Amino acid sequence: MLYKRIVVKLGTNLITGGTDGLDEAAMANLVNQIANLRKKKLDFILVSSGAITAGRKKLGIEKDRKDIPFKQVLASVGQNRMMNTYEKLFSAHGITIAQTLLTKTDLTDRQGYLNARNTLMALLELGVVPIVNENDVVAIDEIEEFKFGDNDNLSAMVANLVDADLLLLLSDVTGLYTADPAVDSNAELIHEVKEINADIEKMAGKTRSKRATGGMGTKIEAAKLATSCSTSVIIAYGQEPDVIAHVVSGKKMGTLFPTTTSKMESRKRWMLSGLSSKGGLTIDNGAVVALTQDGKSLLPAGVMEVRGKFKRGDIINIVNSNGTRIACGISNYSAADIAQIMGQQSDDILEILGHEYGTEVMHRNNLAVL
Ligand code: GLU
Repeated sequence: MLYKRIVVKLGTNLITGGTDGLDEAAMANLVNQIANLRKKKLDFILVSSGAITAGRKKLGIEKDRKDIPFKQVLASVGQNRMMNTYEKLFSAHGITIAQTLLTKTDLTDRQGYLNARNTLMALLELGVVPIVNENDVVAIDEIEEFKFGDNDNLSAMVANLVDADLLLLLSDVTGLYTADPAVDSNAELIHEVKEINADIEKMAGKTRSKRATGGMGTKIEAAKLATSCSTSVIIAYGQEPDVIAHVVSGKKMGTLFPTTTSKMESRKRWMLSGLSSKGGLTIDNGAVVALTQDGKSLLPAGVMEVRGKFKRGDIINIVNSNGTRIACGISNYSAADIAQIMGQQSDDILEILGHEYGTEVMHRNNLAVL
């Protein structure tokens, strides 16, 4: 098998079969595939959407109400129903499942990240299949910084947490196309994307289907995070017979985004996830070379611009003069401090600020280069 640890994201349209409630037959089909592959000693973590749709159906509410607690009500009713269905389907194969509800806030904190990682790893070790969803009941909708908002991004974070080999995004789309196949008959499926650049992002557009929260745009965002954290990503059509088996055995399906990095330590993966990223620094070309080629720390002399507000200890992005992110890591100084010391020699930090936390703006050990 090409992949050993696989995160499978199941989109709402897939597990509802395009209806207004859970489609047990569609879910059984996916569960059967996973149960068969489990016999080959592969690890699976599911990220399943559908709680909100299942809740809406159970409560018999057809029209969308926009108020936020209401969506959370639907999620809490529906999550239970969804897990019940999974429980029934997996236990028929003798497989134990676990419910894991996560929020962005939990994982932004390093301790929370480690706790979630340890739990998921321990579950895998026990042969349990974790089923993850966003904890919609507590996720704060209005503030993007605290919410994944879509399970595509959540699944990339989960792949990062468990150091997965593959993130398989299954939905009602076949993959990434050169144009929208619904309106353009010349649209072609792209089999492999080696680099997610502006052209690819443009192709993804922002198409959204009726019930799904994410579209191709969020899938590309997810692919970007996962591939930079040593996980390959495949977007494929979830109703294709035996799609999961085909994919894990290396058969070409949908669109493949091969990982761009080799395995890296968990601390770096956490920093790269940029989840708690509050701002950033633009650095000059000399500093880019020092960081990316010479393995050096970032000194105040190489900083050209401070963006956003952040405190000492926050994770921030580092971009080059073209605005391309080249690294991220934990800042030794606040944004306000760096604004004063940028372009200056490290020896002058104490005199300028009246305090000093070291000669580096960001120490090499607290930095992850992309
Ligand atoms: N957490 C949402 C649900 O279970 C789904 C979010 C998504 O589909 O991206 O209904």
